[in-house]
Amino acid sequence: MRILVTAGPTREFFDSVRFISNPSSGKMGYAIATEAARRGWKVDLISGPVELPAPKGVQVTRVVTAQEMFDAAVALFPRCRAAVMTAAVCDYRPATRLGRKLKKSNRGRTLRLVPTPDICAHLGRIKGDRIIVGFAMEDHDEHRHAEVKLRRKRCDAMVLNGPANVGGDRAAIQIFLATGRWDRPVRGTKTRIAELIVDLIERLVPPEACAPSTLVRRVGLSRGGNLPRRTGTPRGSPAPRMGRLKRRNGPADSSDHD
Ligand code: C5P
Repeated sequence: MRILVTAGPTREFFDSVRFISNPSSGKMGYAIATEAARRGWKVDLISGPVELPAPKGVQVTRVVTAQEMFDAAVALFPRCRAAVMTAAVCDYRPATRLGRKLKKSNRGRTLRLVPTPDICAHLGRIKGDRIIVGFAMEDHDEHRHAEVKLRRKRCDAMVLNGPANVGGDRAAIQIFLATGRWDRPVRGTKTRIAELIVDLIERLVPPEACAPSTLVRRVGLSRGGNLPRRTGTPRGSPAPRMGRLKRRNGPADSSDHD
C-alpha cells in the first residue's frame, strides 16, 4: 500500500536568483513519511527545498516550484491509496521570471503575482476512493476556515495548525473530519503528531486495502485489546504502545498527549 506525502515550502522566482517563499521546514511531512514507512507503507515524498535528509525507505522527489510539485503529485497520486498534503505551497508566483538578475534602481517596483495551481484541490477532484488529509495553517477564524477548506478541497480530514508550529520540533493541532466532527486539540512532538495522523489514515482507508501490519492491529483490537504481534513492519521497529492502540476505538486519552 502506497501513500503520497507533500512537504516543505515552494519557491517562486521572479528573476534568476530571487524568489518568494515561506519558512516551512518540512519537519511535519518528513515525520509523517518516516512513520508511514516504519509501519510498512510504501511512501512517495514530494519535497520542496528543505535541509532534511531523505527518510529511510522513502522515495523522495525533490521539487522547487508549486508547478513542479503539482506535476510530481499528478504523476504519483494515481498509484497511491492516500495522500497527506503538508506542503506549504506558495499560493502565488510572480507573473514573469527574468532570465537574469534584476538590476537595482531607485524607483519602487511592483511585483505582479498570479495564482499557482492548488495541488490538494486538484487531487480532491480526481481522488476516487483515495483518502486525502490536508493541512490548514490559520491565524484567525481557524475552525471556520479549516471546515471550508476541507469541503472545497474534498479532503477526508483537515489538520488545523497555526503559525507557531512552523520550523519547530513540536506542534499543536486539531483534526476536522469530513463527517463534520472535530477531534480534541493535541499538542506534542511532530513525531507524535505524525503517529496520530498515520493512525487516522489507517482508520480511513478501507480494510481490504490495508497493509498486513494494519490489519493485524485492527484484528487485535476487535478481539478485546490484547497487544497484537506486529507483522510486516521493518525489523527493529519499537513495539506499539498501548496509548496509541487504545485511541483507535475511541476519543483520545488526554494522558497520551504532552
Ligand atoms: O494554502 P492552503 O491553506 O489552501 O492549504 C491547505 C492545504 O492545501 C494544505 O494541505 C496544502 O498543502 C494544500 N495546498 C496545495 N496546493 C496549493 C495550496 C495549498 O496542495 N497551491
